[in-house]
Amino acid sequence: MNWDEFEYWGKHISQWSADYHKTLRDRPVRSQTVFGETAAQLPLSPPDRAEAMDTIMGDFETIVMPGITHWQHPRFFAYFPANAAPPSMLAEMLVSTIAAQCMLWQTSPAATEVETVMVDWLRQALGLTEGYLGVIQDSASSATLSAVLTMREKATGYTGNRDGLATKGHMRIYCSDQVHSSIDRACWVAGIGQANLIKISTKGHRFGMDVDALRSTIAADRAAGHTPAGIIAITGGTGIGACDTLGPILQVARDEDLYTHLDAAWAGSAMICPELHSDFWADVDGFDSIVFNPHKWLGAQFDCSVQFLRDAQPQLNTLKIEPEYLKTTGESVTNYSEWTIPLGRRFRALKIWFLIRSYGLEGLRLRIRNHVTWAQEVCEEIRKLAGFEIVTEPILSLFSFRCPGDDADQQRLVDALNDDGRIYLTQGSFREQKIIRFQVGQFDTTRDDVMIAHSVIQEVWEKIK
Ligand SMILES: *Cc1c(COP(=O)(O)O)cnc(C)c1O
Repeated sequence: MNWDEFEYWGKHISQWSADYHKTLRDRPVRSQTVFGETAAQLPLSPPDRAEAMDTIMGDFETIVMPGITHWQHPRFFAYFPANAAPPSMLAEMLVSTIAAQCMLWQTSPAATEVETVMVDWLRQALGLTEGYLGVIQDSASSATLSAVLTMREKATGYTGNRDGLATKGHMRIYCSDQVHSSIDRACWVAGIGQANLIKISTKGHRFGMDVDALRSTIAADRAAGHTPAGIIAITGGTGIGACDTLGPILQVARDEDLYTHLDAAWAGSAMICPELHSDFWADVDGFDSIVFNPHKWLGAQFDCSVQFLRDAQPQLNTLKIEPEYLKTTGESVTNYSEWTIPLGRRFRALKIWFLIRSYGLEGLRLRIRNHVTWAQEVCEEIRKLAGFEIVTEPILSLFSFRCPGDDADQQRLVDALNDDGRIYLTQGSFREQKIIRFQVGQFDTTRDDVMIAHSVIQEVWEKIK
């Protein structure tokens, strides 16, 4: 492809993208294809001869698009959102054009420096105290793994990387039973082991970790000769939005000298609204590491996960490695690849810059406040449906419900709704029961998009009950 052809197709694809977004409401939210349908339309071997771009683009429309679930659809109420606000898409286009590897300061000074400033803009936006630094990672899973590795290294006096773990005994990490599976996986990969990730039961209306149980479990572990290494708390768990009460957990961590990580992957975005702080984030400033995903609720195109660090040194002690070919000369600079596991890094900070400037924090706050309000409103409507019950009340913009019947009926309703296509919901589980999750958070959703959901649910339920 030459650059004149690129120019032509670049314009065409921009037009296509705008049309796609403008007509999204007419499409079923969840893809309606069956397993294997897309693969069956692809040639089994790669072409030897060049093909024309209009043929490729045509196949994209006919083969690929039917197999796409529309995450940017305004009636996407499944999982959590993965919002790609238009200015962040434009920033991504620029980033993919420049295609710089931003591993070291000198491999693109602007990328490092914009990242440093954007992390600090977000620190201020989230109301975190001055002094937190941070780094942009691909995903919360990677940030959590970085924090768990840091817990491990700190607990071994920074000898684990050097000597291996064979003689280190049982290192223990504590969290509630509401954490995301990325915490489990981080413990697997870090060599901690599932058996040493201790899940404490929850209580109260926000399903927070039972801190007395946390304290006594740590004491029992020490008595048994184990090595407590860290505590992971959550603000806004994936299942039902569980939130730990942060202050008392931090007190335990201080008493026990444990490293702390806070997973606010979803709910962190809502903390740009100052009125939510006292309720959700009191005492947050004590955490050693905090992760939140601007690529979920805030509007930064995937991927973009921010990890804040109260002191970067423990994580640098854990992850920094400097072979000769990565050494840089001159004054001391920030090389963000030393803060994370992958070496190569994309210029993710640009989309934060475009996003925040395009909407202002007020524009982003307005969306989040609307989503929280509309989730409460639609929850009240679902509560009124005959035989339906709200299982967990809204936490921010997430709640869960059940239709009449058993677990199989819940799944039947979810499947029927997603086959219908007007809205998209997913199931979850809570206290051994299947639940139906509902979250409001798509960037362009309107009150009307949200407030048809209960009628759709009722209509589909009448058909299948
Ligand atoms: C989505 C989510 C994660 C995982 O985020 P990734 O960026 O996809 O790794 C972790 N924790 C919580 C609470 C989440 O909602």
